[in-house]
Amino acid sequence: MSPDLTLRTEGLARTYPSGEGEVVALSPFTHTFPTGLSAVVGPSGSGKSTLLNLLAGFDAPTQGRVWVGGTDLHALSEAGRADFRLAHYGFVFQSHNLVSILSAQENVEFPLTLAGMPPRERRERARALLDQVGLGRRGHHLPAQLSGGEAQRVAIARALACDPAIVLADEPTGNLDSRTGEQVLDLLTAPARAGRTVILITHDREVAALADHHLAVRDGVVTVQGGVARAPVSSPASP
Ligand code: ADP
Ligand code: MG
Repeated sequence: MSPDLTLRTEGLARTYPSGEGEVVALSPFTHTFPTGLSAVVGPSGSGKSTLLNLLAGFDAPTQGRVWVGGTDLHALSEAGRADFRLAHYGFVFQSHNLVSILSAQENVEFPLTLAGMPPRERRERARALLDQVGLGRRGHHLPAQLSGGEAQRVAIARALACDPAIVLADEPTGNLDSRTGEQVLDLLTAPARAGRTVILITHDREVAALADHHLAVRDGVVTVQGGVARAPVSSPASP
């Protein structure tokens, strides 16, 4: 049986000191993230990235906790958290953050190397992942030799390399035209369908509409919205 890796927040909050007072970047937020694709929308400066960085353990809360199954993320040591992230998280950022001196193939292999996968196995896995994102023949290209959309697809292949239970994406389609953005989004729905927890920050309403679950952030306050009905996969035969 696979371990419980349910992502859950408990009174999670973050404030920043500002002059005499403080800025509330995130008001106390308690939520259990369901598996599938959750879209987080909200205006610029509302606290979306603050939330994601806390869920990732990149930033520490001023109050509250992040639980992944039975693990209190911020109670781990720095090194323990890094190992935990490597095992269970994947990240996609607005800019692809690929290592510029490594080829696409080497970028995808990188987390597998860190995870201790033997060379032959990780070469094959990276190749299969690049195939899945439609870049099977671009493995030897450096990031600078790829278009923005292609580089972002490599970044997604890398994020999904260790089959993470939790995928966090902060405006991954923000720098892309809408068609390329759609392709990138398709790649994130695959792990969502496979029962992973995928959290996508986007300011694009059309992109958000494709998600299974919806959260809105405004002035640091996160609101969980009602689900949006999706078209059924197959409709029953008409009478
Ligand atoms: P979003 O991602 O929705 O655009 P952020 O989470 O980046 O918003 O920011 C939320 C609020 O927290 C903003 O008011 C921002 O100015 C503030 N903030 C974010 N990071 C810091 C920081 N390191 N120091 C001070 N204030 C910050
Ligand atoms: Mg942001």
